[in-house]
Amino acid sequence: MRAVRLHLPTRTLSVEEVERPVPGPGQVLVKVEAAGVCLSDVHLIEGSLTPLYLPGESVTLGHEVAGTVAESGAEPGRWQVGDRVVLQAGEKRDGITWTRGVDYDGGWAEYALARVDTLFALPDSIPFEQGSIIPDAVSTPWGAVTTTGGVRPAEPVGVWGVGGLGAHGVQLLRAIGANPIVAVDPAPAARERALAFGADLALDSADPELAARIGAATGGAGLAAAFDFAGVPAVREQAMTVLGAHGRLVLVGLTDQPLTVPDSIRFSYLQQQILGHYGSEDAAVPQLIALAAGGRLDFSRSVSEVLPLERAAEAVERLQTKQGNPIRLILKP
Ligand SMILES: [Zn+2]
Repeated sequence: MRAVRLHLPTRTLSVEEVERPVPGPGQVLVKVEAAGVCLSDVHLIEGSLTPLYLPGESVTLGHEVAGTVAESGAEPGRWQVGDRVVLQAGEKRDGITWTRGVDYDGGWAEYALARVDTLFALPDSIPFEQGSIIPDAVSTPWGAVTTTGGVRPAEPVGVWGVGGLGAHGVQLLRAIGANPIVAVDPAPAARERALAFGADLALDSADPELAARIGAATGGAGLAAAFDFAGVPAVREQAMTVLGAHGRLVLVGLTDQPLTVPDSIRFSYLQQQILGHYGSEDAAVPQLIALAAGGRLDFSRSVSEVLPLERAAEAVERLQTKQGNPIRLILKP
């Protein structure tokens, strides 16, 4: 079968012919129908992200995957050949989270292996392309907003970086009743998208009046929660200046740069918090599938383009350079 492999010593990507995997006990083989391209893939290729547990020196990328069951290794009856499924973006092994497409082979391939407890049924009403991005592109902001950030209805919130994760962050904050939702992004197209996805206000991070505008929008209270989806030190410092009393800054975007609190007296006096975030709880993916199936969430605008597996490198570059400002580019084997 064809697979897009990353060779870690040289950080090179290549489409290769590899052996089709055989499901062992407790595993199924999934025929991949759609796999998302994520900024984490860009980070892996650039070298700013390195697998923690990967045995060997190469891996098939792709942690946002949907497809159909092709073969079942065990537990007959639980999954039937042809069942539509979404794959969890990782799995626990001895209490440690291994990430799919990072620590073990992912879904940028014709077939992918999955442990049965990492599969979720995908209803016919949700296309594979939309289902594939629920793990991570939607579930990570969902976890950040509902669990780590603990946003409650009517709380004023800010979203920095309206890319793949941030666009969903805005949509999810809208769904849970945050108000107002302030989006901040230097790109005009990203700000327009933020408004289309449910932000009440979209600001340029370079706007000298940013703090005053957020003050006015929140009745002087400042934000209850601010989300850094960009992973940029300057974003974090700016967000802290507009956070209100007991405000939470949630770090979603990853960066290897240090974290600075520019005004730590204000930070302590207002009893603010900075919270790290990664991934989501196991329940997030089935919750989001149910919300989409129930018409509460709509991911039809999230799929920017579908490309064949052979164009994976191009997809990565387009995401890296923000060419066309994609939310999600999807690979289809
Ligand atoms: Zn991802």
